[in-house]
Amino acid sequence: MQQVEVRPIPLDRLAAVIPPERAQRLRADVARAEAGFGDRTVWHVNATAHGGGVAEMLQTLLAYGIGAGSDNRWLVLDGDPAFFAVTKRLHNFLHGQPGDGGGLGPAEHRHYRETLARNAEQLGGLVAPGDLVLLHDPQTAGLAAGLQAAGAHVAWRCHIGRDTPNDLTQIGWEFLRGYLGEVEAFVFSLPEYAPDWVEPERLVVIPPSIDPFAAKNVELSPDTVRAVLAATGLVSGAEAPGEVQFLRRDGSHGVVRAHAERGGLLLSGQPPPLEARLVVQVSRWDRLKDMAGVMTGFALLAQDGLPEDVHLVLAGPEVAGVTDDPEGAEVLDECRDLLARQPDRARGRIHLVSVPMDDVDENAIIVNALQRHAYAVVQKSLVEGFGLTVTEAMWKSRPVLASRIGGIKSQITHERDGLLLDDPYDLDGFATLLGRLLADRALAERLGTAAHRTVVAEFLGDRHLDQYVDLFSRMAAGT
Ligand code: UDP
Repeated sequence: MQQVEVRPIPLDRLAAVIPPERAQRLRADVARAEAGFGDRTVWHVNATAHGGGVAEMLQTLLAYGIGAGSDNRWLVLDGDPAFFAVTKRLHNFLHGQPGDGGGLGPAEHRHYRETLARNAEQLGGLVAPGDLVLLHDPQTAGLAAGLQAAGAHVAWRCHIGRDTPNDLTQIGWEFLRGYLGEVEAFVFSLPEYAPDWVEPERLVVIPPSIDPFAAKNVELSPDTVRAVLAATGLVSGAEAPGEVQFLRRDGSHGVVRAHAERGGLLLSGQPPPLEARLVVQVSRWDRLKDMAGVMTGFALLAQDGLPEDVHLVLAGPEVAGVTDDPEGAEVLDECRDLLARQPDRARGRIHLVSVPMDDVDENAIIVNALQRHAYAVVQKSLVEGFGLTVTEAMWKSRPVLASRIGGIKSQITHERDGLLLDDPYDLDGFATLLGRLLADRALAERLGTAAHRTVVAEFLGDRHLDQYVDLFSRMAAGT
């Protein structure tokens, strides 16, 4: 197991961007935490130190918790490729998808149990009786019983789920159920994600949140946005920028690289001009994100006379950088083939972008700049646990067009702070809604402004920390 070092962040930083009554509540939470569980260590355990929304949230929420005086620790478990193949399968099953086509039988149980037993041995030397442990996602569920036997209070948080169960979700939940029987609480992003055997008394709903100060979300001036996009070759016609610096989470300075050795970040054709209106989807290269559907929907619109200044950018992580996602390279190849088959007038306006993953802070500033530069952001996922890319774009006052599914529908109210596509497979419907957003700048502006307000109201860290204080106080009290 690896312990991730988290540098404290003062709570006042967050308090400064929320309404005064919420800032007051946040300060009261510090006293509640001290009284409720100030004498114990709070442990979070997950499967990765960086990459993905869970790691991002742990990083900032723990930093605020430590900044407020709470003893918060973060551990990342160890596993071999066979273990992660089993847990990726579980992940797919809980989304109702067959994944690699393999099963979850006795051999998978054995490997899962053995891997976690090795991790539990190390944990045993760290966690004291009475400590509070929040296990994150299916990878960690098998640690619960051992920790409880050692006297720790244990809850399990699942960041994924599917609106309507199917046979595969059933199999996934049956796999996990035996490991989680005695946990004190189950935490889900939406109530409908909980399997029916979770009693209401043990069900806690905590939606994710974003941090306004993370490199992914921090305010960037229009000049910086242009400079980042120009430096990485993602737009043409911008003045050549000097060195573009950014602040890393460890406090050091980084410089945005040109990535010239790989010919820039664009995987195809010429970059869009600086003044083009960009429609952007940022996602992992995962079939459930349906980058191919976005491309086809955009091409449909292009047939019907898309305004000349509109381009589509599909951006995802460099596939070599995401070792726990074997499907990434395959999905990206499918997108490249699909692009090559588009008619000329659409092809020149569709851009595939590969964002390097070797430097998480540089990755974050590139994504930030792309989202801020977008005229509209889309997220046409077929299944989506929550959809942090939606929250991130809404925070940046971008109008978002996204599928009416999973966590997305808990973030966007159709026509009020974004547009929802009722059926994520409906490409004509997608093209129609996108056409509307492109034709109506006032609508785009209004939705973007409302979107920012929604994130301030519901998806910032103070709400999340407040819910954690409730949860941990309850666990410490043994209720
Ligand atoms: N992301 C990123 N670089 C990429 C693609 C995605 O940093 O090239 C980030 C994205 O900004 C978001 C997270 O990865 O913070 C994805 O979270 P989301 O909940 O949208 O989907 P998930 O990948 O967890 O299914």
